[in-house]
Amino acid sequence: MHSTEITPNPFRADMHCHSTCSDGSLSPRDLVLLAAQKGLKALSITDHDTIGAYVEAIPAAREAGIRLLAGVELSAMQRGQSVHILGYAYNLNSPVMQAFCHKHFERRHKRALTILKRLQDQGFKLSDDDLFSAVPAGTSIGRPHIAEAMIRAGYVTSVDAAFKTYLGSGKSCYVAVDTPSVKETIATIHAAGGVATIAHPHLIQNDILLKELLGMAFNGIEVYYARFGLHQCQRWLDIAKTRQWLISGGSDFHGDAKPQIALGSSWVSEEVFNALAARDKNQY
Ligand code: AMP
Ligand code: FE
Ligand code: FE
Ligand code: ZN
Repeated sequence: MHSTEITPNPFRADMHCHSTCSDGSLSPRDLVLLAAQKGLKALSITDHDTIGAYVEAIPAAREAGIRLLAGVELSAMQRGQSVHILGYAYNLNSPVMQAFCHKHFERRHKRALTILKRLQDQGFKLSDDDLFSAVPAGTSIGRPHIAEAMIRAGYVTSVDAAFKTYLGSGKSCYVAVDTPSVKETIATIHAAGGVATIAHPHLIQNDILLKELLGMAFNGIEVYYARFGLHQCQRWLDIAKTRQWLISGGSDFHGDAKPQIALGSSWVSEEVFNALAARDKNQY
């Protein structure tokens, strides 16, 4: 569903957003409280490669009277390209999922150091401490954190500018993360009891890649995404129906890091949320 569809007092669930555990700007608690304030009835926090938000989000959701569903956005590789996979309804206590995310954490840490080194080699006076002192221990560190450090040091004026000139794919300080394959990522989500969902297919440019993904062992697809209108979501809805896949949808809210995207600007209905929640055995 999308913000353009107006129904009186609808049940709305935003199934895609980020907290300070990855590259969002609100803490898990503040994210949950903002969701409740916006009238959302349910939320899934889908941080990049970490499930750390749930420790804080669970008590906050109880307090705010909002439903939660375990979520995560895992970075994977297919055909040498980066693919995002949303995992939902996995067991939050799964050692398999926890270990998988821990490996991502280590890879991201190492890659951040490599990017910093590239920047330093280009003459930027940015120490490792300039980056890491501003990022709480345990954060799933990403390029937006490095962009913020560049802004603080006065080298760029926006995250977008840092990506366009230095950090984006193909730019001078770009470093890819050596992430697990899509197949391994799907298998991990399944081993943790969860459902694997293709994130934002709207953004996939490569038709061969898309076709390959549609033939893999996914259980669902993100039909409603960010500011894409309903007509742009129909194609993904048809695919979900044909395959009898679960449906997801959400804003991809990051807070200040992407100020143009509001929490709840894309969402799913109660029926769609319940289909995902039926797979979830966690106690919130
Ligand atoms: P990483 O996970 O470290 O590879 O960083 C990718 C993340 O950076 C994406 O998930 C987005 O949240 C964010 N991002 C990508 N491009 C931009 C941009 N131009 N401006 C702000 N954030 C961006
Ligand atoms: Fe992000
Ligand atoms: Fe994504
Ligand atoms: Zn996201």
